[in-house]
Amino acid sequence: MNYKIDYRSDTVTKPTAAMLDAMMSAKVGDDVYGEDETVSALENKLAQMFGMEEGLFCPSGTMTNQIAIKCFTQPMDEVICDQTAHVYRYEGGGIAYNSMASVRLLYGERGILTPELIEPQINEENIHFPKSSLVVLENTVNKGGGKCYTLEQIETVHNLCSIKGLKLHLDGARLFNALVATGDKAAHYGHYFDGISICLSKGLGAPVGSVLLGSAATIHKARRIRKVLGGGMRQAGFLAAAGIYALDHHIDRLAEDHKNAKALADVLATTNFVEKVMPVETNIVLFDVADGYTVDKVVAALDKHGILCNATSEKTIRLVTHLDISATMVDQTMEVIKKLVP
Ligand SMILES: *Cc1c(COP(=O)(O)O)cnc(C)c1O
Repeated sequence: MNYKIDYRSDTVTKPTAAMLDAMMSAKVGDDVYGEDETVSALENKLAQMFGMEEGLFCPSGTMTNQIAIKCFTQPMDEVICDQTAHVYRYEGGGIAYNSMASVRLLYGERGILTPELIEPQINEENIHFPKSSLVVLENTVNKGGGKCYTLEQIETVHNLCSIKGLKLHLDGARLFNALVATGDKAAHYGHYFDGISICLSKGLGAPVGSVLLGSAATIHKARRIRKVLGGGMRQAGFLAAAGIYALDHHIDRLAEDHKNAKALADVLATTNFVEKVMPVETNIVLFDVADGYTVDKVVAALDKHGILCNATSEKTIRLVTHLDISATMVDQTMEVIKKLVP
């Protein structure tokens, strides 16, 4: 089958014609010299949206997260995060390698951390214990099936961190999905976090790039670390232009992705090969296969119909909706799912 409907990740999107036009006509310069006005415009635009002082354009979300962790810790410190966190599971051991910090893993409900979970895990001052210095939240929670934090939940974690003197970083790879789903305002976020990482190359549909937001002092330090990691880019304005275009045109439409994900979840829940579907809040559908079925068989059966998705554990399959999944494709997928015999 040539025709593929690709739900493996929201990173598979290709730039639209209009986005490519915006990229081609970008004004660029050498950003390592601070001379690329399009990169600066992207950084300033996001910093303003989120009520933070400055931004730093980086090649990937892994890099923005790792730079933030390096900014907010010293070697021998400890980072507190959920056991499913991207910063811990999917960044290649970068916390140990880049920051020489240890990690305290928490078991949040669908990856959501609360002050009740965090507070007992903050080490008191004692030479035996690593110094707890940073909490990392993820919003939406990838392994939590795109679950969103409420602003109240974030505020309580922020309050605990301020009292205890810990920094707070947000892995906001899919933060715009959360904002569209909850109706919360971007401008409220800056107040709660020391660092925010935003991906432009997921649901927003840009080909490359993430931006780290923080105070001027944090971003000054972050710029040094980006250079050390080899992430200083020259005429990166061509890429930043895609990000600016995405922010101007691709935020509100995330609601369509969420609607499509709910429709897929609803039809999956009616089939006999699905045991249960995690409640859908944004653009991620996670479902467990029923006894007698294997994830490999279900993935292969869908693949035969040109529908691509990934198994994320021995029992779980993930579908992610995005800019390149149309309502028609979702209708076609639902017809296939209804008749599927894995
Ligand atoms: C995708 C993702 C990132 C960043 O990934 P890159 O591929 O390095 O851009 C970070 N956090 C979460 C939760 C993600 O899903």
